[in-house]
Amino acid sequence: MKTFDFTRAATVEDALRQHVSGAKFVAGGTTLIDLMKLNVEAPPKVVDINRLPLGDIARTEGGGLRIGALARNADVAYHPDVARDYPVLAQALLSGASAQLRNMATTGGNLLQRTRCVYFRDPAYACNKRSPKSGCSAIGGFSRNLAILGTSDDCIASNPSDQNVVFTALEATIQILGTQGERSVAIDDFFLLPRNTPDRETTLEAGELITSVTLPPPSPRARSTYLKLRDRASYEFALASAAVVATFNDGAFERVRIAMGGIGTKPWRSVEAESALQGVAPTAQSLEIAAEIMLRDARPQPDNEFKVELAKRCVMHALSLVIQNDSRGYP
Ligand code: SF4
Repeated sequence: MKTFDFTRAATVEDALRQHVSGAKFVAGGTTLIDLMKLNVEAPPKVVDINRLPLGDIARTEGGGLRIGALARNADVAYHPDVARDYPVLAQALLSGASAQLRNMATTGGNLLQRTRCVYFRDPAYACNKRSPKSGCSAIGGFSRNLAILGTSDDCIASNPSDQNVVFTALEATIQILGTQGERSVAIDDFFLLPRNTPDRETTLEAGELITSVTLPPPSPRARSTYLKLRDRASYEFALASAAVVATFNDGAFERVRIAMGGIGTKPWRSVEAESALQGVAPTAQSLEIAAEIMLRDARPQPDNEFKVELAKRCVMHALSLVIQNDSRGYP
Protein backbone atom coordinates (compact mmCIF):
# COMPACT_ATOMS: atom_id res chain seq x y z
CA MET A 1 0.00 0.00 0.00
CA LYS A 2 1.31 3.45 -0.88
CA THR A 3 1.58 6.05 1.90
CA PHE A 4 -1.19 8.64 2.13
CA ASP A 5 -2.38 11.48 4.34
CA PHE A 6 -5.27 10.65 6.64
CA THR A 7 -7.61 13.22 8.13
CA ARG A 8 -11.02 13.25 9.81
CA ALA A 9 -13.82 15.61 8.86
CA ALA A 10 -16.07 17.04 11.57
CA THR A 11 -18.78 18.48 9.33
CA VAL A 12 -19.95 18.10 5.76
CA GLU A 13 -18.45 21.49 4.88
CA ASP A 14 -15.18 20.45 6.53
CA ALA A 15 -15.13 17.25 4.42
CA LEU A 16 -15.59 19.23 1.19
CA ARG A 17 -12.91 21.68 2.28
CA GLN A 18 -10.42 18.92 3.07
CA HIS A 19 -10.79 17.24 -0.29
CA VAL A 20 -7.80 17.68 -2.61
CA SER A 21 -7.18 16.34 -6.12
CA GLY A 22 -7.19 12.53 -6.11
CA ALA A 23 -8.36 12.30 -2.49
CA LYS A 24 -10.97 9.75 -1.39
CA PHE A 25 -13.65 9.93 1.26
CA VAL A 26 -13.78 6.80 3.42
CA ALA A 27 -16.80 5.57 5.38
CA GLY A 28 -17.12 1.81 5.98
CA GLY A 29 -14.03 1.23 3.87
CA THR A 30 -15.18 -2.20 2.74
CA THR A 31 -14.25 -1.48 -0.88
CA LEU A 32 -11.70 1.33 -0.71
CA ILE A 33 -9.32 -0.19 1.83
CA ASP A 34 -9.31 -3.54 0.00
CA LEU A 35 -8.41 -1.80 -3.24
CA MET A 36 -5.71 0.30 -1.57
CA LYS A 37 -4.11 -2.86 -0.19
CA LEU A 38 -4.08 -4.26 -3.73
CA ASN A 39 -2.56 -1.02 -5.10
CA VAL A 40 -5.58 -0.62 -7.34
CA GLU A 41 -6.47 2.61 -5.55
CA ALA A 42 -3.64 4.87 -4.38
CA PRO A 43 -5.17 8.16 -3.19
CA PRO A 44 -2.69 10.74 -1.85
CA LYS A 45 -5.19 11.60 0.89
CA VAL A 46 -8.06 9.81 2.63
CA VAL A 47 -10.71 11.85 4.44
CA ASP A 48 -12.64 9.92 7.08
CA ILE A 49 -16.31 10.99 6.97
CA ASN A 50 -17.66 8.63 9.63
CA ARG A 51 -18.32 11.49 12.07
CA LEU A 52 -20.59 13.40 9.70
CA PRO A 53 -24.30 13.47 10.64
CA LEU A 54 -25.40 11.51 7.57
CA GLY A 55 -26.61 8.29 9.14
CA ASP A 56 -30.31 9.01 9.68
CA ILE A 57 -33.18 7.14 8.08
CA ALA A 58 -36.32 9.31 8.13
CA ARG A 59 -39.63 9.84 6.35
CA THR A 60 -39.83 12.67 3.85
CA GLU A 61 -42.69 15.16 3.91
CA GLY A 62 -44.21 13.44 0.90
CA GLY A 63 -44.24 10.02 2.57
CA GLY A 64 -41.05 8.68 1.01
CA LEU A 65 -37.92 7.64 2.87
CA ARG A 66 -34.59 9.43 3.05
CA ILE A 67 -31.66 7.18 3.84
CA GLY A 68 -28.50 8.96 4.96
CA ALA A 69 -25.38 8.13 3.00
CA LEU A 70 -23.68 6.87 6.16
CA ALA A 71 -26.55 4.58 7.18
CA ARG A 72 -25.02 1.10 7.49
CA ASN A 73 -26.45 -1.60 5.26
CA ALA A 74 -27.51 -3.67 8.30
CA ASP A 75 -29.28 -0.69 9.91
CA VAL A 76 -31.17 -0.02 6.68
CA ALA A 77 -32.13 -3.68 6.22
CA TYR A 78 -33.56 -3.94 9.76
CA HIS A 79 -35.15 -0.50 9.92
CA PRO A 80 -38.91 -0.89 10.61
CA ASP A 81 -39.93 1.51 7.82
CA VAL A 82 -37.81 -0.40 5.32
CA ALA A 83 -39.12 -3.75 6.51
CA ARG A 84 -42.73 -2.54 6.23
CA ASP A 85 -42.70 -0.31 3.14
CA TYR A 86 -39.66 -1.37 1.10
CA PRO A 87 -39.10 -5.04 2.00
CA VAL A 88 -37.43 -5.61 -1.36
CA LEU A 89 -34.58 -3.35 -0.21
CA ALA A 90 -34.12 -5.34 3.00
CA GLN A 91 -34.11 -8.55 0.95
CA ALA A 92 -31.40 -7.26 -1.36
CA LEU A 93 -29.20 -5.91 1.43
CA LEU A 94 -29.41 -9.12 3.43
CA SER A 95 -28.46 -11.15 0.36
CA GLY A 96 -25.19 -9.26 0.01
CA ALA A 97 -21.78 -9.78 1.62
CA SER A 98 -21.57 -11.07 5.21
CA ALA A 99 -23.10 -9.83 8.47
CA GLN A 100 -19.79 -8.23 9.44
CA LEU A 101 -19.51 -6.37 6.15
CA ARG A 102 -23.13 -5.23 6.29
CA ASN A 103 -22.44 -3.74 9.73
CA MET A 104 -19.70 -1.59 8.21
CA ALA A 105 -20.78 -0.93 4.61
CA THR A 106 -22.74 2.27 4.06
CA THR A 107 -25.50 3.27 1.67
CA GLY A 108 -23.28 5.81 -0.09
CA GLY A 109 -20.31 3.44 -0.26
CA ASN A 110 -22.50 0.69 -1.71
CA LEU A 111 -23.56 3.08 -4.48
CA LEU A 112 -19.89 3.46 -5.37
CA GLN A 113 -18.99 -0.23 -5.05
CA ARG A 114 -16.39 -1.20 -7.68
CA THR A 115 -16.53 -4.17 -10.00
CA ARG A 116 -15.35 -7.65 -9.04
CA CYS A 117 -13.60 -8.14 -12.39
CA VAL A 118 -10.46 -10.07 -11.41
CA TYR A 119 -8.27 -8.12 -13.82
CA PHE A 120 -9.37 -4.79 -12.35
CA ARG A 121 -8.23 -6.00 -8.95
CA ASP A 122 -4.81 -7.18 -10.14
CA PRO A 123 -2.40 -4.47 -11.36
CA ALA A 124 -0.39 -7.13 -13.24
CA TYR A 125 -3.10 -7.15 -15.93
CA ALA A 126 -4.21 -4.56 -18.47
CA CYS A 127 -7.46 -2.89 -17.46
CA ASN A 128 -8.99 0.22 -19.02
CA LYS A 129 -11.01 0.91 -15.90
CA ARG A 130 -7.98 0.94 -13.59
CA SER A 131 -5.52 2.32 -16.11
CA PRO A 132 -7.22 4.11 -19.05
CA LYS A 133 -6.21 3.00 -22.57
CA SER A 134 -4.18 0.03 -21.28
CA GLY A 135 -6.57 -2.58 -22.73
CA CYS A 136 -9.14 -5.01 -21.36
CA SER A 137 -7.90 -8.42 -20.22
CA ALA A 138 -11.41 -9.71 -19.60
CA ILE A 139 -12.47 -9.61 -23.26
CA GLY A 140 -11.35 -13.01 -24.42
CA GLY A 141 -10.27 -13.81 -20.86
CA PHE A 142 -12.08 -14.92 -17.71
CA SER A 143 -15.46 -13.20 -17.85
CA ARG A 144 -17.90 -15.63 -16.27
CA ASN A 145 -19.12 -13.09 -13.71
CA LEU A 146 -19.04 -10.06 -16.00
CA ALA A 147 -21.67 -8.12 -17.93
CA ILE A 148 -23.65 -8.99 -21.04
CA LEU A 149 -25.60 -5.72 -21.27
CA GLY A 150 -24.25 -2.20 -21.61
CA THR A 151 -20.77 -3.43 -22.47
CA SER A 152 -18.31 -1.73 -24.81
CA ASP A 153 -15.16 -2.75 -26.66
CA ASP A 154 -13.24 -1.18 -23.78
CA CYS A 155 -14.93 -2.78 -20.75
CA ILE A 156 -17.42 -5.52 -19.84
CA ALA A 157 -17.30 -5.18 -16.06
CA SER A 158 -20.54 -5.76 -14.16
CA ASN A 159 -21.85 -3.61 -11.33
CA PRO A 160 -21.72 -5.97 -8.32
CA SER A 161 -24.21 -4.27 -5.99
CA ASP A 162 -27.56 -5.74 -4.87
CA GLN A 163 -28.67 -2.50 -3.22
CA ASN A 164 -28.26 -0.52 -6.43
CA VAL A 165 -30.52 -2.90 -8.36
CA VAL A 166 -33.34 -2.36 -5.90
CA PHE A 167 -32.76 1.39 -5.77
CA THR A 168 -33.18 1.35 -9.54
CA ALA A 169 -36.45 -0.60 -9.39
CA LEU A 170 -37.69 1.78 -6.67
CA GLU A 171 -36.66 4.82 -8.75
CA ALA A 172 -34.51 6.32 -6.02
CA THR A 173 -32.89 9.74 -6.27
CA ILE A 174 -29.44 10.53 -4.94
CA GLN A 175 -28.62 13.75 -3.13
CA ILE A 176 -25.12 15.08 -3.75
CA LEU A 177 -23.27 17.99 -2.19
CA GLY A 178 -20.27 19.76 -3.65
CA THR A 179 -18.59 23.12 -3.36
CA GLN A 180 -21.02 24.38 -6.04
CA GLY A 181 -24.06 23.39 -3.95
CA GLU A 182 -26.54 20.52 -3.71
CA ARG A 183 -28.10 18.53 -6.53
CA SER A 184 -30.35 15.48 -6.92
CA VAL A 185 -29.82 12.82 -9.54
CA ALA A 186 -32.21 10.05 -10.58
CA ILE A 187 -30.47 6.74 -10.02
CA ASP A 188 -30.72 5.82 -13.68
CA ASP A 189 -28.74 8.96 -14.55
CA PHE A 190 -26.20 8.39 -11.79
CA PHE A 191 -24.50 5.34 -13.30
CA LEU A 192 -22.64 5.68 -16.60
CA LEU A 193 -22.14 3.10 -19.32
CA PRO A 194 -18.46 2.28 -19.82
CA ARG A 195 -18.26 3.30 -23.52
CA ASN A 196 -14.63 4.36 -24.07
CA THR A 197 -14.18 5.82 -20.58
CA PRO A 198 -14.81 2.89 -18.21
CA ASP A 199 -12.77 4.61 -15.51
CA ARG A 200 -15.71 7.04 -15.13
CA GLU A 201 -18.50 5.02 -13.47
CA THR A 202 -20.89 7.65 -12.14
CA THR A 203 -21.81 11.29 -12.61
CA LEU A 204 -20.28 12.12 -9.22
CA GLU A 205 -17.67 14.83 -9.73
CA ALA A 206 -14.34 14.91 -7.90
CA GLY A 207 -14.81 16.32 -4.43
CA GLU A 208 -18.59 15.79 -4.36
CA LEU A 209 -20.15 13.86 -1.51
CA ILE A 210 -23.28 11.69 -1.58
CA THR A 211 -25.39 12.84 1.36
CA SER A 212 -28.54 10.70 1.06
CA VAL A 213 -30.77 8.53 -1.09
CA THR A 214 -34.49 9.23 -1.29
CA LEU A 215 -37.09 6.60 -2.07
CA PRO A 216 -40.49 7.71 -3.40
CA PRO A 217 -43.58 7.00 -1.29
CA PRO A 218 -44.47 3.30 -1.36
CA SER A 219 -47.67 2.14 -2.97
CA PRO A 220 -49.77 0.29 -0.38
CA ARG A 221 -50.74 -2.22 -3.07
CA ALA A 222 -47.22 -2.86 -4.34
CA ARG A 223 -45.82 -6.35 -4.30
CA SER A 224 -42.09 -6.86 -4.67
CA THR A 225 -39.25 -9.31 -4.60
CA TYR A 226 -35.51 -9.54 -5.13
CA LEU A 227 -34.31 -12.79 -6.65
CA LYS A 228 -30.55 -13.41 -6.64
CA LEU A 229 -28.95 -16.31 -8.50
CA ARG A 230 -25.35 -17.09 -7.55
CA ASP A 231 -22.84 -19.89 -7.26
CA ARG A 232 -23.36 -20.35 -3.51
CA ALA A 233 -26.02 -19.29 -1.05
CA SER A 234 -24.15 -16.59 0.88
CA TYR A 235 -21.24 -14.17 0.67
CA GLU A 236 -21.37 -14.26 -3.11
CA PHE A 237 -22.12 -11.85 -5.92
CA ALA A 238 -25.03 -12.31 -8.32
CA LEU A 239 -24.62 -14.07 -11.63
CA ALA A 240 -28.06 -12.67 -12.34
CA SER A 241 -30.55 -10.95 -10.09
CA ALA A 242 -33.91 -9.28 -10.54
CA ALA A 243 -35.83 -6.74 -8.47
CA VAL A 244 -39.51 -6.45 -9.31
CA VAL A 245 -41.97 -3.93 -7.84
CA ALA A 246 -45.49 -4.19 -9.25
CA THR A 247 -49.12 -3.35 -8.67
CA PHE A 248 -52.02 -5.20 -10.23
CA ASN A 249 -55.52 -4.17 -11.24
CA ASP A 250 -58.33 -6.31 -12.53
CA GLY A 251 -56.10 -9.31 -13.21
CA ALA A 252 -53.43 -7.38 -15.11
CA PHE A 253 -50.15 -5.63 -14.40
CA GLU A 254 -50.97 -2.02 -13.55
CA ARG A 255 -47.46 -0.64 -12.94
CA VAL A 256 -44.30 -2.68 -12.97
CA ARG A 257 -40.67 -1.78 -12.42
CA ILE A 258 -37.92 -4.28 -13.15
CA ALA A 259 -34.19 -3.91 -12.59
CA MET A 260 -31.53 -6.55 -12.97
CA GLY A 261 -28.09 -7.09 -11.47
CA GLY A 262 -25.08 -9.26 -12.30
CA ILE A 263 -25.64 -8.87 -16.03
CA GLY A 264 -25.22 -5.15 -16.70
CA THR A 265 -22.37 -2.68 -16.56
CA LYS A 266 -24.81 -0.66 -14.46
CA PRO A 267 -27.98 -1.72 -12.62
CA TRP A 268 -30.08 -2.70 -15.62
CA ARG A 269 -33.57 -1.40 -16.18
CA SER A 270 -35.60 -1.89 -19.36
CA VAL A 271 -38.49 0.55 -19.70
CA GLU A 272 -39.51 -1.36 -22.85
CA ALA A 273 -39.86 -4.62 -20.91
CA GLU A 274 -41.93 -2.83 -18.26
CA SER A 275 -44.16 -1.26 -20.92
CA ALA A 276 -44.71 -4.66 -22.52
CA LEU A 277 -46.32 -5.82 -19.27
CA GLN A 278 -48.42 -2.77 -18.47
CA GLY A 279 -52.14 -3.54 -18.67
CA VAL A 280 -51.33 -7.11 -19.67
CA ALA A 281 -52.50 -10.27 -17.90
CA PRO A 282 -49.64 -12.15 -16.22
CA THR A 283 -49.23 -15.29 -18.30
CA ALA A 284 -46.23 -17.46 -19.12
CA GLN A 285 -46.23 -15.89 -22.57
CA SER A 286 -46.34 -12.27 -21.37
CA LEU A 287 -43.51 -12.91 -18.89
CA GLU A 288 -41.43 -14.53 -21.61
CA ILE A 289 -41.97 -11.59 -23.95
CA ALA A 290 -40.81 -9.18 -21.22
CA ALA A 291 -37.73 -11.33 -20.52
CA GLU A 292 -36.87 -11.47 -24.23
CA ILE A 293 -37.10 -7.67 -24.45
CA MET A 294 -34.98 -7.29 -21.32
CA LEU A 295 -32.17 -9.39 -22.80
CA ARG A 296 -32.47 -8.61 -26.51
CA ASP A 297 -29.37 -6.37 -26.59
CA ALA A 298 -27.18 -8.85 -24.73
CA ARG A 299 -23.62 -9.19 -26.06
CA PRO A 300 -22.12 -12.08 -24.09
CA GLN A 301 -18.58 -13.40 -24.16
CA PRO A 302 -18.05 -17.16 -24.72
CA ASP A 303 -17.41 -17.44 -20.96
CA ASN A 304 -20.73 -15.90 -19.90
CA GLU A 305 -23.09 -16.85 -22.71
CA PHE A 306 -25.05 -18.92 -20.18
CA LYS A 307 -26.12 -15.68 -18.51
CA VAL A 308 -28.55 -14.81 -21.30
CA GLU A 309 -30.81 -17.76 -20.55
CA LEU A 310 -30.11 -17.55 -16.81
CA ALA A 311 -31.16 -13.90 -16.74
CA LYS A 312 -34.35 -14.58 -18.68
CA ARG A 313 -35.32 -17.31 -16.25
CA CYS A 314 -34.34 -15.10 -13.32
CA VAL A 315 -36.62 -12.23 -14.34
CA MET A 316 -39.50 -14.55 -15.28
CA HIS A 317 -39.24 -16.32 -11.92
CA ALA A 318 -39.06 -13.02 -10.02
CA LEU A 319 -42.18 -11.83 -11.86
CA SER A 320 -43.98 -15.08 -11.08
CA LEU A 321 -43.09 -14.74 -7.37
CA VAL A 322 -44.62 -11.27 -7.35
CA ILE A 323 -47.72 -12.52 -9.17
CA GLN A 324 -48.10 -15.19 -6.48
CA ASN A 325 -47.44 -12.51 -3.86
CA ASP A 326 -44.53 -14.55 -2.66
CA SER A 327 -41.51 -12.43 -1.74
CA ARG A 328 -39.09 -15.29 -1.12
CA GLY A 329 -36.36 -14.24 -3.47
CA TYR A 330 -33.93 -17.00 -2.59
CA PRO A 331 -34.08 -20.17 -4.64
FE1 SF4 B 1 -10.85 -3.75 -16.68
FE2 SF4 B 1 -13.40 -3.58 -17.41
FE3 SF4 B 1 -11.77 -5.08 -18.79
FE4 SF4 B 1 -12.38 -5.84 -16.33
S1 SF4 B 1 -13.78 -5.71 -18.04
S2 SF4 B 1 -10.35 -5.84 -17.29
S3 SF4 B 1 -12.66 -3.86 -15.34
S4 SF4 B 1 -11.62 -2.85 -18.55
